[in-house]
Amino acid sequence: MDRRGTRYDRSPFVDGGGHFSGVGTPTDCSGRSAAVVGGAVSGLAAAYALHTLGYEVTLYERQAYTAKRVNCGEAMTAASAVPLAKTPENGFANDTPAFEVAVYTDTGSDRRLVGQVTLPAADAYVTDRNLVERRWAEQLADDGVGVEADHSVTKAEFETLADAHDLLVDATGQPSLASKVTRSTAEYSGHLTALNADVTGDFSEQYPRSRMVLENYVGYAWAFPKSPTRANVGIGWAGPDRPDDYMAALRAACERNGWPVPTRDRTNVAIIPEGPSLAPTRTYLPEFGVVRVGDAAGIANRLTGKGISQGIHSSYLMAELAAEDRLADYPFVLHERLRPEYFLAHVVRGVLEVGEATLLGDVLEAVAGIDIEDVDRSPRLALARLARRPALLARLVTRPWILRRVFDAYTDRWEYRRAT
Ligand SMILES: Cc1cc2nc3c(=O)[nH]c(=O)nc-3n(C[C@H](O)[C@H](O)[C@H](O)COP(=O)(O)OP(=O)(O)OC[C@H]3O[C@@H](n4cnc5c(N)ncnc54)[C@H](O)[C@@H]3O)c2cc1C
Repeated sequence: MDRRGTRYDRSPFVDGGGHFSGVGTPTDCSGRSAAVVGGAVSGLAAAYALHTLGYEVTLYERQAYTAKRVNCGEAMTAASAVPLAKTPENGFANDTPAFEVAVYTDTGSDRRLVGQVTLPAADAYVTDRNLVERRWAEQLADDGVGVEADHSVTKAEFETLADAHDLLVDATGQPSLASKVTRSTAEYSGHLTALNADVTGDFSEQYPRSRMVLENYVGYAWAFPKSPTRANVGIGWAGPDRPDDYMAALRAACERNGWPVPTRDRTNVAIIPEGPSLAPTRTYLPEFGVVRVGDAAGIANRLTGKGISQGIHSSYLMAELAAEDRLADYPFVLHERLRPEYFLAHVVRGVLEVGEATLLGDVLEAVAGIDIEDVDRSPRLALARLARRPALLARLVTRPWILRRVFDAYTDRWEYRRAT
């Protein structure tokens, strides 16, 4: 088959929409085989990219796709990276044009709004992610990928797969199967805790825009509408400062922000260890023949918790480098590409940690109008905006903790450095 004349022409993996790695001259990898363990977005992207390059791919997913329940929020900010038509039947519910971000002084009844900004979203959808994953897996199976759903890979089997294939991709999320096999789960440190649920109610005033609310804790609450009468709502905290009663905190957040309150039985609770992302030596384990992508590589954003586009990006990059026999470069290229995003997240998270809501509101207003995906992919745009506001910049640089954060970020002294 002339791969360049067929799949390559339509492949977001190759075209990349400017967001992803892209492949200059795709290498035909026919005759090689790969096993991908974990069949959520990152694993599906890895299987898709490797198959496009000619690998014979088998994808293993613990859950049956017909029953798969995705315990996370559902905003996808680089939807063109997914090779599916953006229809509700494929799970793309709302072509959300923008994310509104509001900053409040606190969570009390007399809280003040101290910043409000709209970040456009040219390539974003609020999804029914279980449906997106099911359709993507079906398409891969139709295309010739071996899709083994309802198959939980054991530690022993994982080692066998490493021997049986040219490439073993760990896309099992956190903590990853590779870290269990290598008894290195301690490399995961730090926590994100999040609760979310789909609710029905009147979202007609907000729809189709998505909304995030920062209320002066290290985290935020959100309402991502899927239609004028249905939305995913949630709340998350990063770091150690979390409430005693998560469900009560979600209930209170919904009440003060005017969203329907979900019932306990419909609410997902996720407690997520972060890592080992910023240690490049941990994303590729040549001694075990394993490469990690997505949450297994621990690359979700430290501030927003956003990890879908990052996961797909890492998979496409991994496939490109595997095809060129350059997997040893993968950890360093990934680190280099994500570093500016981490830099920004680390500094802004510092503003949240000291509780300066007014400063955060002003910082956010400075970045108004930048596409939400570009805040991650091209954080230099945000930093350039700040540089154009000397008064705000002066307020920032006179705070020693900000300078410390910038220094730590600049010198890669991230929270995971100790885990290397
Ligand atoms: C509450 C919450 C809200 C979020 N909201 C957003 C958002 O709005 N936008 C965004 O971009 N990101 C969001 N994120 C982050 C995002 O969900 C993750 O970054 C993303 O799911 C990572 O995808 P992944 O494929 O790498 O891993 P995962 O989604 O964790 O998938 C891992 C897969 O591996 C399978 N698996 C695990 N072990 C095995 C095994 N032994 N054998 C076979 N299969 C196995 C699992 O069943 C699962 O399907 C949110 C996270 C949470 C918790």
